[in-house]
Amino acid sequence: MKLETVIGLEIHVQLKTKSKMFCSCSNAGENAEPNTAICPICLGHPGTLPLPNKQAIAWAVLTALALHCEIPRHSKFDRKHYFYPDLPKAYQISQYDEPIGVKGSMTVVMGGERRTVRIHRLHLEEDAAKLLHNNKGESFVDFNRAGTPLLEIVTEADIRSPEEAGEFLRELRLIMRYLGVSDADMEKGHLRCDANVSLRPEGSDEFFPKTEVKNLNSFKAVERALAYEVKRQRAVWEETGRAPEEQGTRGWDEDSAKTVSQRDKEESSDYRYFPDPDIPELNFDAAWVARTRREIPELPGEVRERFVNEYGFNPVDAKTFAADLTLARYAEEVISELKVWLTSRDPEASADEIWERDKKKLSKLLASWLLSKLLGVLRAAGASISEESITPENMAELITMVYEARVNASNAQRILEEMLARGGDPSDILREKDLGAMEDDGSLVQIVAGVVNSNPKQVREYTSGKAAVFQYFVGQVMAKTRGKADPVAVSKLLKKALAK
Ligand code: ADP
Ligand code: ZN
Ligand code: MG
Repeated sequence: MKLETVIGLEIHVQLKTKSKMFCSCSNAGENAEPNTAICPICLGHPGTLPLPNKQAIAWAVLTALALHCEIPRHSKFDRKHYFYPDLPKAYQISQYDEPIGVKGSMTVVMGGERRTVRIHRLHLEEDAAKLLHNNKGESFVDFNRAGTPLLEIVTEADIRSPEEAGEFLRELRLIMRYLGVSDADMEKGHLRCDANVSLRPEGSDEFFPKTEVKNLNSFKAVERALAYEVKRQRAVWEETGRAPEEQGTRGWDEDSAKTVSQRDKEESSDYRYFPDPDIPELNFDAAWVARTRREIPELPGEVRERFVNEYGFNPVDAKTFAADLTLARYAEEVISELKVWLTSRDPEASADEIWERDKKKLSKLLASWLLSKLLGVLRAAGASISEESITPENMAELITMVYEARVNASNAQRILEEMLARGGDPSDILREKDLGAMEDDGSLVQIVAGVVNSNPKQVREYTSGKAAVFQYFVGQVMAKTRGKADPVAVSKLLKKALAK
């Protein structure tokens, strides 16, 4: 039987507002001592009144718009009742039937194919406290997290594979970071995901009973848990010819790499939702929503597109740049500085003309020097990309020097390491350490000839077929030029000299 995978995600994103959702407590309590970022409101004391956080609402609208949602004119907060030690009011303030955003969509690219996943709704709610358990059977409650603003985003069941679910989450994380509303770190619980999955015969548009997998705290866990669940359900279909009967909640157990059945799921009627009488309804002014829409920054998809079309990067490199906002911004600064360098050396042509003329080579050089070499030396030094480590101007000058063959790649690498270690201009380091490429004045030809003439034994070996000796000659020439010669030119000249 041909079966199709059907997945829908429910995602919680912690907003990084200064204060909590309904009180003025610090929202940075995850880094503080337990129960120090608390007040009577987020402890749920009787007689206290919640005051909604304007920034959280503005960010919820901003995010909803970035996800192409419609923003209904009216919205409101509701109480969702359940009893648990991490919920002192015995209800959570959430949104039931009038969420902030509805009918949105997000696009992911999978294997070159664009896939659109519809967003069912986006709403705002408060987080619960954090329960901590020790191995003596004791439990503790840290209320620092209680009242943190959370966005809940619910997709339609449009996702068709575990990998696509992972890619969707990674793209959503990136959008949150570009919007500046959340760090969206899954490992830290800033981004949490429950994954719903079922199977159906290919071609059917029916929905069959699903399982909801919880306790997923990494992208890998989401993908592995879903893959496990697809396999488990497929076995039932193949054995019985029908869908599994249960509609249940399962937890992912990383150690055994299995999902295990949990409590039965509540129905929404169990929660006794009703409008929170303490919080006024929200009425969104169309002009304010329009203004918020104009505040949406350039998003990752647009950055990737621009890096391909404007700068000539290949899609894979463009994706790597866009995956880190700091890196993408740094790259753009390097590019604009590089254009300044290029025009200063060829005043006849404009920077854009030079760029267009040699786009392919320049983008390749940039990708290589930023993505592999710069990130490489930073990683080795345990540093991160920033204006302070290596300025975009200095990085651009180094790349210009390589582009114009004023330094060969291995010496440029040494200069880069120096730049990181002690700062400074690449041209100064080049001069000081005498690392510049050799002038093309015929002296390389002489050095090559000298090396060949003074090693008759190796020449005999080479001409009798021992090709590995060639590297010996290259090494000799490079040593004689103190690494300044262009290795490609050296190889060419040596081949010529040895062929005689
Ligand atoms: P519940 O009432 O169990 O919370 P919802 O209808 O609210 O279910 O949907 C929750 C999530 O589950 C949504 O992301 C939705 O797309 C997804 N979903 C619903 N039905 C299915 C199904 N049969 N298979 C996979 N995902 C589903
Ligand atoms: Zn508080
Ligand atoms: Mg639901």
